[in-house]
Amino acid sequence: MEIKNNSKGYIAVVGMGPGKESMMTQQALHMLDAADVIVGYTVYLELLGERFAGKEFLSTPMKQETERCRLAFAEAAKGKKVAMVCSGDAGIYGMASLMFEIKEELGKDAADVEIEVIPGITAASSGAAVLGAPLNHDFCVISLSDLLTPWELIERRLRAAAVGDFAIAIYNPSSKKRHDYLQKACDILLETAEPGRACGYVRSIGRDGEEFHTCTLAELRNTEVDMFTTVFIGNSQSRITDGRLITPRGYRI
Ligand code: SAH
Repeated sequence: MEIKNNSKGYIAVVGMGPGKESMMTQQALHMLDAADVIVGYTVYLELLGERFAGKEFLSTPMKQETERCRLAFAEAAKGKKVAMVCSGDAGIYGMASLMFEIKEELGKDAADVEIEVIPGITAASSGAAVLGAPLNHDFCVISLSDLLTPWELIERRLRAAAVGDFAIAIYNPSSKKRHDYLQKACDILLETAEPGRACGYVRSIGRDGEEFHTCTLAELRNTEVDMFTTVFIGNSQSRITDGRLITPRGYRI
């Protein structure tokens, strides 16, 4: 896609939170209101709903993220204010870093395009709030998707997280082709963590049909979840109380 020399342009990479408008930041809403064109994956554009019905929308299918970013630069080169939307936070398994990489690759052709990243509520944060307080101490975030990351590296990070006694938020726990990845991940965690370790998972956070469950790590191993789910593994101090998953901060009471 060709970008005109010396074109000025503006792209906001907007994290829209988990789904509903009330969970978007004021800044994100403002950026989308101000945009001439909104670029994003179709599902997210649909989630935006009525409020932005009058906007120009541009999309590419899933797995065509690079093309989607190039499209955003091409629109910005026409002088349009572009908002590129991502679910959750744009900089957490989102498009933000790819936008900077594409800008780098385009070199002087995109030198005048300004990129601004607008943060959003990531699934770890919104899902934790639904479950209770599972990430209330040191935690890490690991994606089980091996589309862009070798599985060996994912295994190494899971092992290190368990050895470090981190609470863990697991993104991309499953897909059609990877239905047993959560089971494989739990088996790795069980090398270190006890089978009774408190865990939970939340499906469709901030969307219709939101649901959450608490369970042990052994039970989680035998549970099938889908790609619209975020999984939470407690640390050694985590527990389930009043039906909710909590990781104590350590205050004496
Ligand atoms: N940028 C997003 C993450 C994209 S990766 C963010 O910051 O939240 C996609 C994964 O995120 C999904 O497989 C799921 O694990 C998690 N996720 C994103 N939105 C979710 C939602 N509304 N409910 C449950 N999980 C969600």
